Amino acid sequence: MLDKIKGALVGFAIGDALGGTTEFLTKKEISERYGVVKKIVGGGVWNLEKGETTDDTAMTLAVGWGILKDPDNPISPIGDGFLKWYASGPKDIGIIIQTVLSHYKGDWFEDAKKAHFDYLNELSAGNGSLMRCLPVALAYNDLAVIESITRQQSKMTHYDSLADEACIIYNRIAYQVLRGKELKKAIKDEIKGTTYESVLTGRKPTCRPDGFVVNTMKWVLYWLLTCESYLDVVIGATNEGHDTDTVAAIAGGLAGLASGFEAIPREYSDLILVKDELLALSLELAELNKSVDLR
Ligand SMILES: [Mg+2]
Repeated sequence: MLDKIKGALVGFAIGDALGGTTEFLTKKEISERYGVVKKIVGGGVWNLEKGETTDDTAMTLAVGWGILKDPDNPISPIGDGFLKWYASGPKDIGIIIQTVLSHYKGDWFEDAKKAHFDYLNELSAGNGSLMRCLPVALAYNDLAVIESITRQQSKMTHYDSLADEACIIYNRIAYQVLRGKELKKAIKDEIKGTTYESVLTGRKPTCRPDGFVVNTMKWVLYWLLTCESYLDVVIGATNEGHDTDTVAAIAGGLAGLASGFEAIPREYSDLILVKDELLALSLELAELNKSVDLR
């Protein structure tokens, strides 16, 4: 289990670092500028250091450490982590999260709802809660608890139910894979009867891989269902354009969970600047998951 949890978090961060280079470019622009991006090189719109990750990994860490601070009531410590990260002045922050964090008055759910109606034109179905939800599925072993906390962490910033629905499907898949179910089988079982069933055709989604959570999720599932290796998943998403870092990170989280950390090439994982923190978090999440088992 520990190897899978490490693979999930480091696999996520590698997707973030790889896709950070190509974020906001179109597929054509990537091809003209880089050919195919297969290695972590940094640069891009955020002028990243080699191995530097972005908001996706920072917020995932905040969710993970927040859960560990108070596993029974994690929302407040998770929120403290968000505010601390926001106060550090991150260069890459999505519009929905920035709006909610800048208007936060002390009640996450009310403030996110208010932001949705008053400041966001009722547009809060971004992928910013999907990109940080994975630690919930790694920390707990009761599916009802995972679903409840997954939804709550989404509603802290994303009032639109499309966001929490995607998070729940994603973490249900993670839950199954952590317990040994084959990744593609888990996806097929969990998306049956949902908005995402159309990806089962194996054809590329017709939407852009952008920040709308439904589009992000369709592309994540497409890469996971059609690729045979961890690297194919993150490299595919990195070179498809648009919200590349987030799509590659979200897909890379599940692909790394399925493969385990040891199966991810060291030439990628060793470059991640926050690797040690991700491994430390993995260890603590694995221990929490086990201890919950014994209750
Ligand atoms: Mg990002």
